[in-house]
Amino acid sequence: MSTKTLKTVEELLEAGWVKADDAPQLKAVAARYAIGITPSMQALITADDPNDPIAAQFVPTAAELVQTPQENADPIGDHAHSPVEGIVHRYPDRVLLKAVHACPVYCRFCFRREMVGPDGDGMLAGAALERAIDYIRTHTEIWEVILTGGDPLVLSARRLRAILEQLATIDHVKIIRFHTRVPVVDAPSINDELIDALKASGKTTYIAIHANHPRELTETVKVAIDRLLHAGIALVSQTVLLKGINDDPAILAELMRRFVELRIRPYYLHHPDLAPGTGHFRLSIQRGQEIVAALRGHVSGLCQPVYVLDIPGGHGKIPIAASTIIDESDGYHVTDFRGVSHFYQNS
Ligand SMILES: *Cc1c(COP(=O)(O)O)cnc(C)c1O
Ligand code: SF4
Repeated sequence: MSTKTLKTVEELLEAGWVKADDAPQLKAVAARYAIGITPSMQALITADDPNDPIAAQFVPTAAELVQTPQENADPIGDHAHSPVEGIVHRYPDRVLLKAVHACPVYCRFCFRREMVGPDGDGMLAGAALERAIDYIRTHTEIWEVILTGGDPLVLSARRLRAILEQLATIDHVKIIRFHTRVPVVDAPSINDELIDALKASGKTTYIAIHANHPRELTETVKVAIDRLLHAGIALVSQTVLLKGINDDPAILAELMRRFVELRIRPYYLHHPDLAPGTGHFRLSIQRGQEIVAALRGHVSGLCQPVYVLDIPGGHGKIPIAASTIIDESDGYHVTDFRGVSHFYQNS
């Protein structure tokens, strides 16, 4: 195992995670999509398991060269709602601030895979960053700023602090939310300096932590999570439902319980987006609904994320769990968690 992040096909060959025969195809994958596997994630990979759920998230495969007609480079329509560089304003009261396009790891199923990485959209700095902050300042309906990317926690503490100190001066912004994988894939980097920077806005701070398999949530991760909670930062979770990784009610239940045990409130379970070369990770919405229904009632209410689809074209996220209620003229048929239907009479 390496003590640094693996970034090339050569390094993956050396680590023994890919076969020499596959190298030409994997180099074609690497030419288009960045590779990154942190030491923490390397340590979790079981090399002799061809279905290892950690390897499947980070080790590239030739399947990524297959692109279906429905897939596209901007599957959730970020560009359609970007008034200035670095800002995505799709919903009235909140914006995404995309300050950086690097990540600690590169997920093979990433929905922004054409925008992230060393050849991605780069970092927002100087005049461009000022324009983005000005946009937030002049749009008084913006209550929440969501720092995403890429992964905002790969920025240096100094850079993060500079951005957050600017947001601190905007009164109508009440909430700062970060979307990140760092506390999971690179837990040791959650140090005091970084935490101080995250809180530099003085506003209510949330972090949405991305993890997809219970094995990712180790004791080392718990230490990082405890530090964030101790600093008064609220934590929610974010998971992508992925074929071959977590498309199983038992695994998903274990993941959600682990989040709750760590005091991370389950928030979203994303149906995979139509990102290019990710067809091998996609399951049907019907299968997703079955998995989500299997959690409801059988596992604590605290462990229930909202199953969402980001509608292609930039129309936003929408809950897609199967309906448990049918309208009738004098009431409703509702289905309980065992699948039994009951009538609720209007009063
Ligand atoms: C996902 C997303 C958000 C955040 O949505 P929530 O439902 O508040 O988590 C905001 N803006 C854009 C453009 C998004 O894609
Ligand atoms: S960390 Fe997020 S943005 Fe980065 S590659 Fe993974 S899913 Fe994509």
